[in-house]
Amino acid sequence: MSKVFQEAGRIAPDLLERYEPVIGLEVHVQLKTETKVFCGCSTRFGDPPNTNVCPVCLGLPGSLPVLNRLALEMAIRAALALHARVCERSAFARKNYFYPDLPKGYQISMYELPLATAGWLELFPTRRNEVARKRIGITRLHLEEDAAKALHEGFPDSDRRSYIDHNRCGVPLIEIVSEPDLRSPAEAYTYLNTLKQLLQYTGVSDCNMEEGSLRCDANVSVRRRGAEKLGTKTEVKNLNSFRYLERALEYEIERHISVLESGGRIEQETRLWNLAEGRTDPMRSKEFAHDYRYFPEPDLLPVRMSGSWTAEIARSMPELPQAKRARFVSEYGITAYDAEVLTDTPELADYFEAVVKAGAPPKTAANWVQTELLRRLHDAGKETRESPVAPAALAELLQLLEGGQITAASAKGIFTKMFETGRPAREMIAAEDLGQIRDAREIERLCRTVIEQNPENAAKYRGGNKGVFKFFVGQVMRASRGKANPQLVSDTLRRLLS
Ligand code: ADP
Ligand code: ZN
Ligand code: MG
Repeated sequence: MSKVFQEAGRIAPDLLERYEPVIGLEVHVQLKTETKVFCGCSTRFGDPPNTNVCPVCLGLPGSLPVLNRLALEMAIRAALALHARVCERSAFARKNYFYPDLPKGYQISMYELPLATAGWLELFPTRRNEVARKRIGITRLHLEEDAAKALHEGFPDSDRRSYIDHNRCGVPLIEIVSEPDLRSPAEAYTYLNTLKQLLQYTGVSDCNMEEGSLRCDANVSVRRRGAEKLGTKTEVKNLNSFRYLERALEYEIERHISVLESGGRIEQETRLWNLAEGRTDPMRSKEFAHDYRYFPEPDLLPVRMSGSWTAEIARSMPELPQAKRARFVSEYGITAYDAEVLTDTPELADYFEAVVKAGAPPKTAANWVQTELLRRLHDAGKETRESPVAPAALAELLQLLEGGQITAASAKGIFTKMFETGRPAREMIAAEDLGQIRDAREIERLCRTVIEQNPENAAKYRGGNKGVFKFFVGQVMRASRGKANPQLVSDTLRRLLS
């Protein structure tokens, strides 16, 4: 294959002048219910293997599944967030296949009658991807159960044996299938991220990719620009990060174009993303395509979603990310960029709003949450909800800063200590004597000392080199341990040096 990759994985632009990529995503998301979709077993992640199981989720003969109403409700919430039409009637089917992680020999899934159809999700340009604003169609959304987890690694005898953890059997999933409306890896990335945010906001899923709560398969083809007919697609599996999705698509698009350019044909097949080699490998071809022999699940009644129930769920929907961003910009006067960072997760957005509601000026709050708070959380490996500094405590600090009781430099130091100890700002300031120095005589004393210690620089300044002024300000601030009022320091230095 020709080496047409450019700058860190981007596809060569001249190839994209002639070929248009077409992408559709199939996304599986684990719902945030405490119990499984057809039995009362716990869905908790990380429990000892094979402890959260019962005859239903182990598929023992004679056991009867019962639909978890909350799982259905969450699936409807997801459908509503995607502007999809919730079907009045839906039904479960058995999707039959043999696999060691499937003790029943079939997966219960909605098939001919999905839960919802004909939705859309709107893409907006982001900080990361300058994609065009456009709607991506959602073909269908349905509810199904997860399979067990096969463990091929991590045991002393993993070279000979695989283990099966059945805890995941029967965990509720929704599958969301998009129309082939995506036109670039960047659009696919943005679609998945937008979808993830929607599902987190609506409380449907935590979308934790490391724990497998969000899984994505990508279907991709290319066609000559201007052609109507879609090209033959391949499906890429094993994309367990956003970055891999993007890279696998870049690789696959380039591969399709190379094959077509050299007069070949793309075979419809399923491929696996090979992370180690940075390429996709064939997994199974159309020849071996599954015939799942779907048939209606005889142990579960058809599902009816009444209009009144759907309307009730619609009324309980929270504010969604795009609406929140727009409101943050208009209500708090912050930039669209800031609003995007602050609405990244509902928890962060709530945190920011709580800081403002507790009395901090919105712009200062926006800056501090994005820089100081996020950096410390990141360094400590903590989530927003685990922040040792509560919103009200940060608001108090920012009010002290705004009111001039402390300098920006000490505020940062105080914040670090608040983060480490969980103690409030006022306590820190009192204990460490960090109140701002505004006493003119005290500041003059500091300035004089610094000037006396640096006669050469003082001479330079007086000789016209105004650039050294910053040096003096820095020295005085340092001598005061960041506590001197910067304005007073500048004024005093200017007077003493002139
Ligand atoms: P299959 O029958 O192979 O499951 P579907 O028609 O159900 O295919 O589509 C599965 C996914 O593949 C959807 O997300 C759809 O948008 C996408 N898709 C379908 N055809 C193409 C194509 N030619 N190129 C890219 N994606 C496609
Ligand atoms: Zn069970
Ligand atoms: Mg399909």
